[in-house]
Amino acid sequence: MKNLYQIALQTVSPIKLKKNGEAGHVGCALETVGGVVFTGICIDVPCSIGICAEQAAIAEMLKNRETKIKRIVAVYEDGSILPPCGRCRELMSQLDLYNENTMVVVDFEKEVRLKELLPERWDKKWD
Ligand SMILES: [Zn+2]
Repeated sequence: MKNLYQIALQTVSPIKLKKNGEAGHVGCALETVGGVVFTGICIDVPCSIGICAEQAAIAEMLKNRETKIKRIVAVYEDGSILPPCGRCRELMSQLDLYNENTMVVVDFEKEVRLKELLPERWDKKWD
């Protein structure tokens, strides 16, 4: 986890955007089951148009035709670890059944499987 945390931290690169917008104050690193690491940054602009760093990293992963996430961590600009929001949890679960087993880093000394963060899936009917 430590190496993935360092990669996520290095991905953080805050930038001010037009009006009140900003980006890059959260960085995410995910490792696929194939051992490849993808990163992303958040985009936060007015009217909730932005995206989470996890979503950006996931888009990079999908661009490379991978869907199985072994481990994921997101880091705020102050170095603290941010657990994924509900939307990102759901997104990971929708990509691949394997991702129930994704290790989600929720704090420095704690990581849990995605299925523990989403205990009652609504879509089992379509597995
Ligand atoms: Zn999110």
